[in-house]
Amino acid sequence: FCAVALRPRQTMFLSAVTLGGMGSVMWWLQAGDPLRHPPAVEAMNFGYLTAALLSTALLSSEMTKLRRRMKRKKQELEKALETIRTLATIDELTTLANRRHMNELLCAEERRQPPGAGSCVALLDIDFFKQVNDRHGHALGDAVLREFASAARGALRANDTLARWGGEEFLLLLPDAAPHDARQVLERMADHVHALRVEGLDPARRISFSAGLAARRTGEPFTEAISRADKALYRAKASGRDRIEVA
Ligand code: GH3
Ligand code: MG
Ligand code: MG
Repeated sequence: FCAVALRPRQTMFLSAVTLGGMGSVMWWLQAGDPLRHPPAVEAMNFGYLTAALLSTALLSSEMTKLRRRMKRKKQELEKALETIRTLATIDELTTLANRRHMNELLCAEERRQPPGAGSCVALLDIDFFKQVNDRHGHALGDAVLREFASAARGALRANDTLARWGGEEFLLLLPDAAPHDARQVLERMADHVHALRVEGLDPARRISFSAGLAARRTGEPFTEAISRADKALYRAKASGRDRIEVA
């Protein structure tokens, strides 16, 4: 049983020692008392022993190879699982949470929250983003999205999550936050975004976003709070952009 768990080299060494030991004893027995221990019988026993030990050593070597292969497969599987987990939760372009993951967080938040504890959601939309694509191309548009995400992320508190909701729209979830706190986060985010300088973009062009902020009412599904935030965002756009409207 041990031999199966050993490395091939260890099994070979043990087999050699055993064969050496047993061979010496057999030699000594047949030399000292050939009537009770006929040389032919001892030689046959030695042959059986050699065959048995060699088979065990070979089996051990095969088992080791199998174990190594299984270990490698397990590592590959763990890596693949990690990649799948990442792809399922992260937006590839911005590395923010993706819409699917945000929906999971919203469901968890709905289940977790005791009545009365407030949380806020905000919908953000980059202003005049289409112009960036039209004037400078899609690649620079992508770069702006990446830079926007990294600047916006820097304004979040520990428990806040910003997700790419679609295109150049983002959803911000602020658990246990009063509207006043949420507004502060959004204003900080706006400062970070205004300070952005993206290579290739006209330096005079300031990147900004409009936001609609909604405090979730007690027992209200997040879908409704988001819908109110969306209406507030529409008002922010209609009244000149680069501003935060509260639902
Ligand atoms: P507004 O201030 O009213 O929001 O104007 P806008 O131009 O930002 O709004 P609109 O919704 O008309 O344009 C959004 C554009 O975002 C259109 C689409 O081509 C672009 N877009 C969406 N997803 C991506 C993306 O992943 N990469 C790039 N480069 N562009 C994207
Ligand atoms: Mg849009
Ligand atoms: Mg836009």
